[in-house]
Amino acid sequence: MPELPEVETVARGLSPVLVGARLTRVEARRPDLRYPLPVDFVQHLTGARVLALTRRAKYLLAPLDRGRTLLMHLGMTGRFEIAEAAGDPGSAPAKHAHVLIETERGTRITFFDTRRFGFMDLIDDEALAAHPRLAGLGPEPLGEAFDAAYLGRAFSGRRQNVKTLLLDQRVVAGLGNIYVCEALFRAGISPVRAAGAVSRRRLAVLVEAVRGVLVEAMAAGGSTLRDFAAADGQLGYFQHSFQVYGRAGGPCARPACGGVVRRLVQGGRSSFYCPVCQK
Ligand SMILES: [Zn+2]
Repeated sequence: MPELPEVETVARGLSPVLVGARLTRVEARRPDLRYPLPVDFVQHLTGARVLALTRRAKYLLAPLDRGRTLLMHLGMTGRFEIAEAAGDPGSAPAKHAHVLIETERGTRITFFDTRRFGFMDLIDDEALAAHPRLAGLGPEPLGEAFDAAYLGRAFSGRRQNVKTLLLDQRVVAGLGNIYVCEALFRAGISPVRAAGAVSRRRLAVLVEAVRGVLVEAMAAGGSTLRDFAAADGQLGYFQHSFQVYGRAGGPCARPACGGVVRRLVQGGRSSFYCPVCQK
């Protein structure tokens, strides 16, 4: 499942081909993804110019010159492919290629989604900030507003465990299970610790750990992205090496620790952690 680093990487990959470009041909090959597409989806996008492409949490936002913003979410298996629009004009589009967008620059962007948990919507610009998907989201984990002082306020008096609160999109936007597990490991904080009981000093370590795992994943994804783009224009996924995620029963990655990675379920999600060095 794409998490924040993947979505950010997709945004960076799509920006050069979309931002400033007019969309010359749009094809929705089915009426719905996870949710129905707007009835005027193709009509509104065709001829529109893309003004920007940004990420908020795991949403991609492309404001258009027509007063609406295209919101896109990759779901579990969504991915984009960038190709020359002139290529393979006669061949039938591939399976699971649900949305095709061609620009005046001769580029074709194809959205594939095998399981169709992704979605796209068109939202009036003036309604964007108050939109249910975007209103109430916490600060971006890579933004300046996310710091130890902020986390201290957000966690103050909370008896819920720190893992569950970090996954709460109202506390911090866009963090998923994998990177929360990795950040807690890096910070040496147990996922079962009550959030309100984590000291300010350790919250500062946690903030840096969150930023670190995301930035490193993006750096890895960036290099993978370049390789992919050179090969076949694929955008969407890359392989990471995780220190605790998915490693239950294996040795702790800290050489001197000697602990064994454990898995437990919190709020219906698997947590992976080292009970020796995460306190
Ligand atoms: Zn350990």
